[in-house]
Amino acid sequence: MSLGNQNLTDISGQQAITSPGMAHWAGTGPRGKTCGNCAYLKTKTIDFVTGRCDKYRQMMRKEGPAIPARSLACKYFEPCKTINQSITSR
Ligand code: SF4
Repeated sequence: MSLGNQNLTDISGQQAITSPGMAHWAGTGPRGKTCGNCAYLKTKTIDFVTGRCDKYRQMMRKEGPAIPARSLACKYFEPCKTINQSITSR
């Protein structure tokens, strides 16, 4: 599900690919990086397909919905400190 009002005529591509629960617009982070590579993606599901963004939780003061690990990274992207912390996109 994308963000934005479908009645608006100027829906950007970033809005179209951004999932609710992301800290900022998808695609505004480092090129080629995904949420699955980001240290803020917490409570990852056992199949490593989705997770919850801790940056969203910090800013909104509530936990957001799970986001796909393959989502393009946003501007708050932080690289994982260890390779095992990262989720590869599918
Ligand atoms: S790139 Fe990181 S901070 Fe941005 S939405 Fe994805 S998990 Fe959250």
